[in-house]
Amino acid sequence: MFNAVWLEQDGRQTQATLRQISESDLDAGDTLVKVEWSTLNFKDALAITGRSPIAKKFPLVPGIDLAGVVESCSTGTWKPGDQVVLTGLGYGETRFGGLSQHARVSADSLVALPAGLSTQQAMGVGTAGFTAMLCVDALERHGVTPESGDILVTGAGGGVGGFAIALLAAKGFRVVAVSGRESEAPRLKALGAAEVLGRAEFSEPGKPLAKERWAGVVDSVGSHTLANACASTRRGGVVTACGLAQGMDFPATVAPFILRAITLVGIDSVYFPVPARKELWQRIARDLPPAALTSLFTTVPLAQTLAAAVQLMAGQVSGRLVVDMR
Ligand code: NDP
Repeated sequence: MFNAVWLEQDGRQTQATLRQISESDLDAGDTLVKVEWSTLNFKDALAITGRSPIAKKFPLVPGIDLAGVVESCSTGTWKPGDQVVLTGLGYGETRFGGLSQHARVSADSLVALPAGLSTQQAMGVGTAGFTAMLCVDALERHGVTPESGDILVTGAGGGVGGFAIALLAAKGFRVVAVSGRESEAPRLKALGAAEVLGRAEFSEPGKPLAKERWAGVVDSVGSHTLANACASTRRGGVVTACGLAQGMDFPATVAPFILRAITLVGIDSVYFPVPARKELWQRIARDLPPAALTSLFTTVPLAQTLAAAVQLMAGQVSGRLVVDMR
């Protein structure tokens, strides 16, 4: 028997408990992983508190990220002792996820732990850091370089925003961060932001075209913020859209696209193809300064996960939460 977070539905209410389960309770799969570290993402807190229909079946073990050691693998893809990372792919939503001391998964959903990162650090990165890496990679693939000009990072105080700042600054980009919390400014500057702007000038309805300022944008906020970011992106610039912290709407015009030839790139980390993940994880391990990574997460024991989910929903958590599953 081992410990797991367990979600059941009582009528329409989600009941979350920490309980002992056995291997026979787990989903089918060809690979058994001893989970060492998991995370508590916003999505996991939504699933645990039942605030949004993230859990697509019950009972369910939540947790969209996990890192640990392979115990057995019937396909031969992995050998016992291999250190692995898993993010997204429906784990913790449509199938049992990482908030369980053992997880049965599909061999082809795993990525080898990159050299230079521990399993704990990999979960410090987790889905948020991997998504930030996808955004930075997309900017670069579309030709944005440090010489192109400033990069705007919105939702900077959040998980994706913090990793985006650290990764961009490490590559020599000049980063302008947008945050609704003045208190976050020193932390964001320590991560590498050259300037921190208030949220208000971006979150209200703006003009179809504004002064050209950004060579690139990492936006995890959506809504008017994304529209204003597009409107103030320089000719030929690139905007990556990965989140909806302000809203799912996109109240924009086509003006920045047809008059300034900007490019809007959509980012989805959940079903990003697994074979291409390895190289990006290696880039994270190589590019992310260790001190920045350390400042981007804190650790909680599994026993405190349910309480931490409630705090996260109440906006009382700063940085990412890594869950100790050992
Ligand atoms: P966090 O909750 O950690 O951060 C979001 C940040 O957005 C907050 O810290 C805050 O930053 C800012 N924010 C919050 N509410 C508002 C608002 N009403 N208006 C403007 N800004 C706001 O979330 P993550 O960084 O983990 O994720 C960010 C978004 O990206 C989420 O919508 C998430 O669902 C999405 N996401 C998408 C992924 C993908 O694959 N596409 C993967 C991971 C996340 P501040 O206080 O500094 O202003």
